[in-house]
Order: sequence, then C-alpha cells, then structure tokens
Amino acid sequence: MSSQQLRLSDEELIQLCHRVEVSSSLSFEELIYLVQLDERQAQILFATADRVRQRMVGDAVHLRGLIEFSNICIRQCQYCGLYCRNNQVKRYRMKEDEIFATAEHAVKMGYPSLVLQSGEDPFYNTHIERLAGVISRIKNELKVAITLSAGEFSKTDYQRLKDAGVDRYLLRFETSDAKLYRELHPDSQLDDRLQCLQYLAETGYQVGTGFMVGLPRETPEIFANNLLLLKKLNVGMVGIGPFLPNQDTPLKGEASGTSLGTLIAVALTRLLLPDTNIPATTALGTLDKDGRIKALQAGANVMMPNVSPMEFRELYKLYPNKLCVTADQGRDTAIKLVESIGRVVSFSAGHAPLRK
Ligand code: SAM
Repeated sequence: MSSQQLRLSDEELIQLCHRVEVSSSLSFEELIYLVQLDERQAQILFATADRVRQRMVGDAVHLRGLIEFSNICIRQCQYCGLYCRNNQVKRYRMKEDEIFATAEHAVKMGYPSLVLQSGEDPFYNTHIERLAGVISRIKNELKVAITLSAGEFSKTDYQRLKDAGVDRYLLRFETSDAKLYRELHPDSQLDDRLQCLQYLAETGYQVGTGFMVGLPRETPEIFANNLLLLKKLNVGMVGIGPFLPNQDTPLKGEASGTSLGTLIAVALTRLLLPDTNIPATTALGTLDKDGRIKALQAGANVMMPNVSPMEFRELYKLYPNKLCVTADQGRDTAIKLVESIGRVVSFSAGHAPLRK
C-alpha cells in the first residue's frame, strides 16, 4: 500500500484498528495515513486506544510528583526556554536540602513516585556524587520510586545514579530525523541521544523516551518514523507533548503543534506499545484546557503534577503559559480530573514494564 493510495472508509479504519489491537504493529504507510487523520476519524483510533489501555494497564492513573530542581543548561536546544543562550531567564539550582524537603513534602501529600527533572546542568556532570547523594537520601529515607530526567551522562554516571536509587530515566529523542535533530540541536546529534538510551537500557533502568509533535519542518513521514522508533526502542514509558513556541528562543515565530496531532500520537503509542506507561502531559494541558482528559481517554495512564516550590516554577519555563498552581491545587485538580472520567487514582509506584 502506498501512502498516496491509502484512503480508508470508516469501516476500513475500524478493521485496521482491530488488526492492530491483535498485532501491535503498523506499517510506515499506514502510520503516515493515521498521523493525518481528521478529527472525526481520529475518534475511531482514540476509542481503540482507550480499549487497549483498559485491557493492558487498567483504569488506574498513576500520579508522580514532578520536582524541577535546576534550570541551568549547557545545551542549545532551539525550542527550549532553558537553552543556554536565553539570558531572559533567571537561573537557579535547588540546594540538596531543598530538593530533599520538596520530596518529603510530596511524599506527605501521598505521592509514591517522584520525577526529578532539570536542564543539562554541568555542575552535576562534574559533581555526580552530589546528585547521587541527594537521590540516595530520598530513596533511603522516603522509600519512594524515583525517575530522573536530567539529560545526557556517561554510562558510568548512569550506573552511579542507578546505584544511588534511581529506578527510571526519561530522555526523549525529540525527533527521529537526524537532519532535523541537528538543526534543532546544533551542539549534538541524534546518535548521541540514542546511545544514551542504549546505556540506560543496559544499566537496567525502566527507560522512558518520546518526542514533540509539530516541531518546525516535521513531515508526516518524520511523524510516522517517530512512532516506529518508539516501537523499535520498546521502552516502558513514553512522553509525548506538542511543540509550543517560546518567545525567548530562536523558534519564537513558529506555529505550535496541535492537540489533535498529539492525541493521535498518544493513541498510536498505546497501540504499538500496549503495556507502556504514557503520561497526559502538561504541555498538552497548556495548549488545550481539556487536553489531559482527552489524552487519558486516548491511551494515557499517568499524570505528573508539579510539586516544585512556587518560587522556582516561573523560572522553569520551557514554553509560555505554563500552568502554575500550588502543589496542593495541582494534586487536587489531577484527582478531580481522573475521577470525573470514571477512572481511579493510583497511589502505588506504578512501575513501568522492564524490557530485556
Ligand atoms: N534536560 C533534560 C533532557 O534534555 O532530557 C530534561 C529537561 S527538558 C527541558 C524536558 C523536555 O521538555 C524535553 O525533552 C522537550 O521535549 C520538552 N520541551 C522543551 N521545550 C519545549 C517546548 N518549547 N515545547 C514543548 N516541549 C518542550
């Protein structure tokens, strides 16, 4: 089937969805068609993904508390508000005691699982023991599941962080197209990112990756290849959000990704990797006020409310209009949202499947 010829009636789309429910695989041509579905036909895909989600991971929505512990970054990611040449942003690095106190507060609020995220702060490349120290303190004293998302490290450092108590690591590949990756990251290349994902898998982490939807110069072919790369990497967690242009970056004039495209990506991810953990992302909730509900109904099963101290929230600004509510409000909103669609909040660690 060539993508030019592929035009499916509703009946044919339903049949294709049934086939994917059994096989968990789609061809490149089929994906090119599916990533361009219109709003009406996309509902068929979303209903299928919702069914697969229900069957494979159930009705539980896992809540993770997100701590943004440093906005210092050496990278030049052209889309990101933290990129090193943005001098409009005041930089911060939380002290280890502040990170621990925030984690402790989150655990008291009921979170059994925390995500520690930062820019690629060079301090930790040269002081890996400092990061490992606070992680092992959190792990030992709070007995909580820990996800880290702090960018690229050597395999030895990933091992050190794992030994300290990190269970999971999130590192999006952002786009599967090596040329586009290079344009968006003039200081690095896709292969480096993929190498890190390989190190993480070899070190025994639950690995998470993902991409942005609607990056400038993204084509349906690149979008389809993003999904095929996810399938090939066979990860246990997948984060997908729309690209949102930030006024303080070189991509300020570009159009944002769409809510529909992001939901299609979430749904296709659920079909290709049926038991994976998929968050309803804050970026989607920023673009579309109902975005997180829609994502939960199109395959997602995780939410990551922000628990960072308020003074740092505004400074960790990847994109504009970031939702900024208190930790309590964020948790309560997430619980209400989950319950409003008849789903159940899970306060268990909600580990991702480990891949061999
Ligand atoms: N430094 C770590 C890394 O590189 O993986 C983690 C922090 S990074 C800021 C987290 C994610 O934010 C990136 O993987 C990227 O997909 C997303 N992000 C950054 N800028 C964005 C933007 N303008 N719109 C949407 N998502 C963005």
